[in-house]
Amino acid sequence: MSTTTHAIAAPSPGAPLSPTTIERRDLRPDDVLIDIAYAGICHSDIHQVKEDWGTAIFPMVPGHEIAGVVAAVGSAVTKYQVGDRVGVGCMVDSCGECEYCVAGTEQFCVKGNVQTYNAVGFDGENTYGGYSRQVVVKDAFVCRIPEGIGLDVAAPLLCAGITTYSPLNRWGAGPGKKVAVVGLGGLGHLAVKIAVAMGAEVTVLSQSLKKQEDGLKLGAKDYFATGDPSTFQALRGRFDLILNTVSATLPVDSYLGMLRVGGAMVNVGAPGEPLSYNAFSLLGGNKVLAGSMIGGIAETQEMLDFCAEHGIGAEIETISADQVNVAYERVENSDVRYRFVIDTATIGA
Ligand code: NAP
Ligand code: ZN
Repeated sequence: MSTTTHAIAAPSPGAPLSPTTIERRDLRPDDVLIDIAYAGICHSDIHQVKEDWGTAIFPMVPGHEIAGVVAAVGSAVTKYQVGDRVGVGCMVDSCGECEYCVAGTEQFCVKGNVQTYNAVGFDGENTYGGYSRQVVVKDAFVCRIPEGIGLDVAAPLLCAGITTYSPLNRWGAGPGKKVAVVGLGGLGHLAVKIAVAMGAEVTVLSQSLKKQEDGLKLGAKDYFATGDPSTFQALRGRFDLILNTVSATLPVDSYLGMLRVGGAMVNVGAPGEPLSYNAFSLLGGNKVLAGSMIGGIAETQEMLDFCAEHGIGAEIETISADQVNVAYERVENSDVRYRFVIDTATIGA
């Protein structure tokens, strides 16, 4: 037994997305049925549709930046009621018992967290993401979207927001800290807003200067083009923290050269190809090269509350279902300002 809902899916690796219908399970006691209003397009959706990260499950309904309204709740749900504004990010389940789940880092669940799409749940059923009208999710993986943030600008926070908030928080972005954000795309533009709100002095490192005016409006103090080799010399030894949000490989050594002694470069970008570095780029200056994957559910709620408090939402371009393939091309060409969000009412309409 299940409910049929409209969705957009990639039928096979790299194929254009097209309309389809999928089944959503009947509510279990701890489930929430969400009428999806908006779904953000993350570059990870494109990586997975194209199998950049390895073999994937098709048909694939991408989408892990979901914002909507609760339409029904299971018999044991007490945290949410019909009409509540809620969001779902990259995960829809985990074991709940291992040391990482208990610590609130469900993304590192030893049994493997169940991703919102392109995954198989503990019940053996494939998961399908947010490019659809409705979704059913276990209540523990649903977050509350505070009043004051529109659902459209909130949707991208569920992945791009938490993926940048978590490392900025962990690596101490704040007053007196110089933070560089590499790549001004979906993740990068939210990283700028969040790091500025945390009190850090923020520099954008973009391929060119064409988005400079936007970057400064978002709160960055400086903006440099990485296409200009003199940038790396001019900024030598400057940053406490470099957050790399780039979806392609980079010359890591050149970036490490811009860190202060003891500084850290944290990668959240996830290219399919390996990144490489010279050991001496880290040794000379006790530098740290680190990674960060999304964030746990409690931290995602903390991030949403922080964004509401600081008036932070994504800069979005809202599109209809039939524009998704064009949006994918534009994201791949770094032609996004700064997140595409699908109006899910147009799916199957
Ligand atoms: P996006 O909107 O496409 O932004 C990426 C930005 O990187 C582009 O706007 C561009 O910025 C820059 N860029 C792209 N190609 C480049 C190249 N060849 N050389 C230098 N810079 C380049 O993508 P996104 O949605 O923000 O995602 C970024 C990456 O993070 C993706 O790989 C995604 O899979 C990954 N991700 C990781 C996590 C995690 O948990 N760690 C979560 C979500 C996403 P400029 O035009 O300013 O140069
Ligand atoms: Zn994402």
